[in-house]
Amino acid sequence: SARAAGPLSVRWAGAALNDDAYGRLRMEQELRHAIAAGELELHYQPQIELASGKPLGAEALARWRHPTRGMIPPDRFIPVAEECGLVEALGRFVLETAARQAAAWAGLGFRLRIAVNVSAIQLRNPAFAETALAILREADCDPSLIELEITESAAMADADHAARQLAPLRAQGVRIAIDDFGTGYSNLASLTQLPFDVIKIDRGFVRDALEHPNARMVVAAVLGLAGNLGVETVAEGVETEEQRAFVAAHGCTYGQGYLFSRPVPAESLLAWRRNQLVAELRRMAGAAGGR
Ligand code: C2E
Ligand code: MG
Ligand code: MG
Ligand code: MG
Repeated sequence: SARAAGPLSVRWAGAALNDDAYGRLRMEQELRHAIAAGELELHYQPQIELASGKPLGAEALARWRHPTRGMIPPDRFIPVAEECGLVEALGRFVLETAARQAAAWAGLGFRLRIAVNVSAIQLRNPAFAETALAILREADCDPSLIELEITESAAMADADHAARQLAPLRAQGVRIAIDDFGTGYSNLASLTQLPFDVIKIDRGFVRDALEHPNARMVVAAVLGLAGNLGVETVAEGVETEEQRAFVAAHGCTYGQGYLFSRPVPAESLLAWRRNQLVAELRRMAGAAGGR
């Protein structure tokens, strides 16, 4: 019964969690345990090159498979990790896991660039770049298989520091993406001083682009800006064919969203890609046979 479950777990699972110091403390303890106990995992969401339809990348998204509370989404536990000093351990786990996965897939001939989210707090660490490069070396991962996603607001909070951390990563071939672009009220002039390769247009704009003229203008303007800067673009949260066609027509490089695939476990992503290749081969064989 609800009573047997206890008031704590009710609060823990409820929306009031963030205001509830006791529930928060309990989550903190469970999260600390979860990292050590291997309860965290990564799911991967493909990024499709719009011109070719090919999946050239995937974003790694953290999930917490809690033994009794089920799958907990990152919006619920990343902020807790950030506040209680666990984000370094979590960030290390995420980068290590993604790097090993990218290296393992590359070994199978499946070269897929994996995008990894970086928290503002991780980026603030003066040893961020050095630590990240050491993790890639240990995982035997080609740095060009890794893209680091920094949110626009984290990048701009201290742009000089961010630029200093990102430059050596980029020099080794790591790609840098600006995540959730359009939500951070950036000064565009200072943004251009940052070294980066990709802009990810926030899902909110992509969702509204077909209905709201303002969102449509933002998407078109950002895609135009990216073209002028010579950087690639990812449209986040593409859910419909109309959205795909709209961003593709405005020159967007990649699409990511439920239209193509939800985030899935590593094995499912590999199976999904295998099925695609088999279908492609069948089509080619069919076409050849028909001649
Ligand atoms: P994000 O980096 O902007 O990731 C994109 C989010 O949009 C993901 O939510 C993804 O599942 C969701 N999404 C993708 N396509 C669609 C779509 O077509 N429709 C809808 N409605 N949603 C879509 P998720 O996995 O819940 O992650 C939420 C946020 O948590 C991420 O936003 C990121 O800021 C943070 N996060 C996730 N994993 C990590 C991590 O390993 N480290 C850090 N620091 N943050 C992470
Ligand atoms: Mg992201
Ligand atoms: Mg994003
Ligand atoms: Mg987002």
